[in-house]
Amino acid sequence: MDEKVLSLKKAFQHDLSGAANSKDVEQLKVKYTGKKGPVQALMLELRNVAPEARPRVGKEINDLKNEIDGLLDQALMGFAKAEEVAQLEAEKIDISLPGKRHYLGHSHPIRIMMREIVDILIGMGFSVQCGPEIDSDWYNFEGLNYPADHPARDMQDTFYVTEHLLLRSQTSNVQLRAMEGRNPPIRIIAPGTVFRNENISARSHVFFHQIEGLYIDRHVSFADLFATMEELWSKVFNETVEARFRPSYFPFVEPGLEVDLKCTSCHGSGCRLCKHSGWLEVCGAGMVHPEVLKNGGINPHDYSGYAWGMGIERLAMLRYGISDIRMFTENDMRLLAQF
Ligand SMILES: [Zn+2]
Repeated sequence: MDEKVLSLKKAFQHDLSGAANSKDVEQLKVKYTGKKGPVQALMLELRNVAPEARPRVGKEINDLKNEIDGLLDQALMGFAKAEEVAQLEAEKIDISLPGKRHYLGHSHPIRIMMREIVDILIGMGFSVQCGPEIDSDWYNFEGLNYPADHPARDMQDTFYVTEHLLLRSQTSNVQLRAMEGRNPPIRIIAPGTVFRNENISARSHVFFHQIEGLYIDRHVSFADLFATMEELWSKVFNETVEARFRPSYFPFVEPGLEVDLKCTSCHGSGCRLCKHSGWLEVCGAGMVHPEVLKNGGINPHDYSGYAWGMGIERLAMLRYGISDIRMFTENDMRLLAQF
């Protein structure tokens, strides 16, 4: 029996000396100290030992068991520490390596321009009202004083969805909606996309953006319109940009006018952007036609108003010196990354 204890001890020492890591030690723990392991087997054999020798042999086996447990724990602790150090070393982050670059998206120049104008106008007391991009003929044309056979309809080639539904050709489709069921004063702006069935060129596109403005109250006059326009342009261009008002015709205003701004690219001397005229048309405007007020349920004898529709692309072209409207939709990063 003594020999068995001794050989088990030697076998264990031999195995332990061959352990290379904590995993090996764990395996030895299972092998030697498990319920079916050799130490337990020796304990069971104890009953075959002569009764007088049992206490001594029993103690020997117990000592061996304690020794094995102690050595295993010691080996485990030793490896665990070394392995932790090795793991930390392996997972070390090299902060001197160049990082991965993340590209942030940003606003489109049209969106920037639009938001800025909307903010300025909100500051001047207007509130934002939106309208549908697919609308009825009534809101886009007929209610705005364009009867079915009216030649002014030819000024805007329109995309029709059905006979009576169309892609709005102007944000003016919001005007009657703003008047319906509401009493003046009405002071709204309507930013949005509009659609025209036109040939795409440097100066025109099948869709672009407008901001409609509508102000109806008692005694609203041309002077109010001029004052609002001039205040707006000076804020948009951070300088006193010269504006020119020309008489013009739109069915839903009377009288009507067009607003030209002096070309910011050539300062009036003429360039490609302004078609060598020195001016760029940015806005149609006028006093709301009495028929339109009536169609919106407002009595033209009590109230008057002004309205405008300005093209955002045109303003962005002026502001940023972009000479071709198609550049806004080409998604060329060389342009977009500049904003
Ligand atoms: Zn110019």
